[in-house]
Amino acid sequence: MLKILLLIGVVVGVYFLFFKKKNLKPPSSDNSQEEAMIPCAKCSTYVSAKESLMRDGKYYCCHECLEA
Ligand SMILES: [Zn+2]
Repeated sequence: MLKILLLIGVVVGVYFLFFKKKNLKPPSSDNSQEEAMIPCAKCSTYVSAKESLMRDGKYYCCHECLEA
């Protein structure tokens, strides 16, 4: 019984150590770049840089605005 508890303790300890490391990994600069909001050149709707569509140096919120 004691062995099982010890094993669970080790597994939980390793899990938390790994989880903590994972959380610290992504650099904050990358996150802020992805979440930057850009206004659509056609309808001025703000979209995240990640979801925006770019053509001729202008950002668009969707294909409808991009084609218009
Ligand atoms: Zn738009």
